[in-house]
Amino acid sequence: MVVATNLGYPRIGPRRELKRALERYWSGKIAASDLLDAAAAIRRDNWATQSAAGLSSVPSNDFSLYDQILDTTAMLGAVPKRYGWSGETVDLTTYFAMARGHQEGDVDLPAMEMTKWFDTNYHYIVPEFHAGQSFQFASTKPVDEFSEAREQGVATRPVLVGPVTYLLLGKSDDEAFDPLTLLDSILPIYAEVLQRLEAAGAEWVQIDEPVLVLDLEPAARDAFARAYESLTAASGLKILLTTYFGDLRENLSTALALPVHGLHVDLVRAPDQLDDILTDIPDGLLLSLGVIDGRNVWKADFRALNDRIATAIDRLGPDRIQIAPSCSLLHTPVDLDLETDFDPDVRQWLAFARQKLDELVVLSRAFAGDTDAVAAELQANRAAAGSRAESDRIHSRTVASRTAAVTESMLHRAAEYEDRRAFQNEHLELPLLPTTTIGSFPQTGDVRSARAAFKRGKSTREEYDAFLRTAIEDSIRWQEEIGLDVLVHGEFERTDMVEYFAQKLNGFAFTKRGWVQSYGSRCVRPPIIYGDVSREDPMTVEWTRYAQSLTDRPVKGMLTGPVTILQWSFVRDDQPESDTCRQIALAIRDEVRDLEWTGIKIIQIDEAALREGLPLRRADWDKYLDWAVACFRLSSSGVSPEIQVHTHMCYSEFNDIIHAITAMDADVISIESSRSKMELLDAFAAYDYPAEIGPGVYDIHSPRVPGEPEMEDLLDLALDVFSSRQLWVNPDCGLKTRTWDEVRPAVERMVSAAQKVRDKLAAAQPSA
Ligand code: GLN
Ligand code: ZN
Repeated sequence: MVVATNLGYPRIGPRRELKRALERYWSGKIAASDLLDAAAAIRRDNWATQSAAGLSSVPSNDFSLYDQILDTTAMLGAVPKRYGWSGETVDLTTYFAMARGHQEGDVDLPAMEMTKWFDTNYHYIVPEFHAGQSFQFASTKPVDEFSEAREQGVATRPVLVGPVTYLLLGKSDDEAFDPLTLLDSILPIYAEVLQRLEAAGAEWVQIDEPVLVLDLEPAARDAFARAYESLTAASGLKILLTTYFGDLRENLSTALALPVHGLHVDLVRAPDQLDDILTDIPDGLLLSLGVIDGRNVWKADFRALNDRIATAIDRLGPDRIQIAPSCSLLHTPVDLDLETDFDPDVRQWLAFARQKLDELVVLSRAFAGDTDAVAAELQANRAAAGSRAESDRIHSRTVASRTAAVTESMLHRAAEYEDRRAFQNEHLELPLLPTTTIGSFPQTGDVRSARAAFKRGKSTREEYDAFLRTAIEDSIRWQEEIGLDVLVHGEFERTDMVEYFAQKLNGFAFTKRGWVQSYGSRCVRPPIIYGDVSREDPMTVEWTRYAQSLTDRPVKGMLTGPVTILQWSFVRDDQPESDTCRQIALAIRDEVRDLEWTGIKIIQIDEAALREGLPLRRADWDKYLDWAVACFRLSSSGVSPEIQVHTHMCYSEFNDIIHAITAMDADVISIESSRSKMELLDAFAAYDYPAEIGPGVYDIHSPRVPGEPEMEDLLDLALDVFSSRQLWVNPDCGLKTRTWDEVRPAVERMVSAAQKVRDKLAAAQPSA
């Protein structure tokens, strides 16, 4: 019989209970046992919710106090030396030291590195490897949680991160070191875990190997064969090998050749792979169909899924098919029912994790021949899909005709870069090595409480506006005083660089409790793009105009770019992302023009998320970069050549996409670079980057205030790569997370470092 299963459930709790417990534990307000109780309560609720929904298989060990990769590091005893751990099992203090660093007395241990989990906004703790590393069985968590569920009367399928994925996601100081050489050392520990799970009564285990959707070297494919021979032989457990976030492509034959008992595939991201899988699947292998979107918030359209599931059942028989979400539900908000005050139209199109469980069960029952029992649910699903296809809340004629009318010439500035530069030099009269900041100033307690008071109705619009005007005026005065060349208004009115714009655009909805884990206790609440995007009124003009009215120096208009607004939202799935992005680009284009009409001469369009939108497979990069760059250009090209367009990106690995960065045709780009000591500028040097660039000289991610000589040195290094006419001087990123006590001295020193370097340049080239 076709059954419904789940691969993982959100672990933050419906009201972010985990966040609260963690933060109280870290700040010493509660004991370890209280934290563990809170965690156990979340697990208990999750198991209860999932079994009550009627799933046949429910996961365990999908919970984590911080991160599942860190849990695997603990399981394998792969604790880096600096944490001074020795013992049987990894204790909480060591675990959190790895996650967050540890300061106490003279001890100052940095955390392990954190990076994005595939193309999600979840971040994992990167394992550290070295040659000859030894491992030991050091965490009973997978077995404990299995037993805990069993005591509750729930038979679970425990989840482990697979050995090959674990190794390939790690890093080593020695770049030549191949982590796969450690495979034979970790397999015995996996074997022990499997044996203990079997002894505890498990029947199946889910082993996640998402690296199978990446471009793999032949050696990695061989590693899979070796690993799964060994794991299958290690115990009597049946292994479900799970892949997600994309299609298997050339790794399909590798996956199908493994001696496992079941394979899970992502049919939301990659529905087309089903045909090949059904053709090549070996006899007896169970297939888990990932048909419910674990990465997004939309209800499934059952009718659209029907044929696919039916074909699979036809070929393999119902006993070999399971219905599942595409990936763990970790990446979706917990429960739509918690939204007590939510647009009812939009609501009927949504399903969060809790609702997706019901979808899985309804689908499986429909295919198990139980259609009468679920007739009402099927009917409701059809109605929702129908209203979504037709609703005028979603489809706007005006937007459709505007996007259809986009022409190639709208993607081009009215003059080539060299000519624009001449106009802008004349228009702006900036010194060599102009100094500026990235946009935001500290979001102090004052700023947050003024906003909160206004939102709660405790202060009037007039009072709040007056507060913002004062904040802007103070910041402008300070910027003038310390001698910055290009000023900003400070972004005091913005909560978040995406939410601020989303709230002013049509087509977006917002939840109150739609939190998704980003890392550890940190959660984000992405806006939901449900319909055609358009701009009603100017979004930033008032505050920018006000700031400019206070000074003769240029104030930069500050916008978030279309790709970043798209990437950091839940995006509608009823049209290509590129279409949605183009709609946002047109709205930003209007804003850019309005800023020009207001008299703003410099406009920065932040594309912090452009790089993270890169597809997982190289072969798909160009297609993405083509539309992403086109959208940026559509947003930025509607102004006259005198207007200087800036963009900002919070990273500096540009080697592999430098052609796309150049193709954005921004006049100035600011990037991160101080932490890498400017090394990462090589990409620009090798490419002969034509335009102007501000490699950050002040690392704003740390509370440390850099010294002036340090910034001067960084500028000297940058001048090895760029000509002085190309170079700007700025911090790495916005200053909103810093305090004024850090920002004031740092930016003052930055301005005087720039002056020192200018003086040196002038001395080296005495004017005639
Ligand atoms: N302009 C934004 C700020 O200064 C940019 C933030 C970002 O790139 N993440 O905060
Ligand atoms: Zn940034």
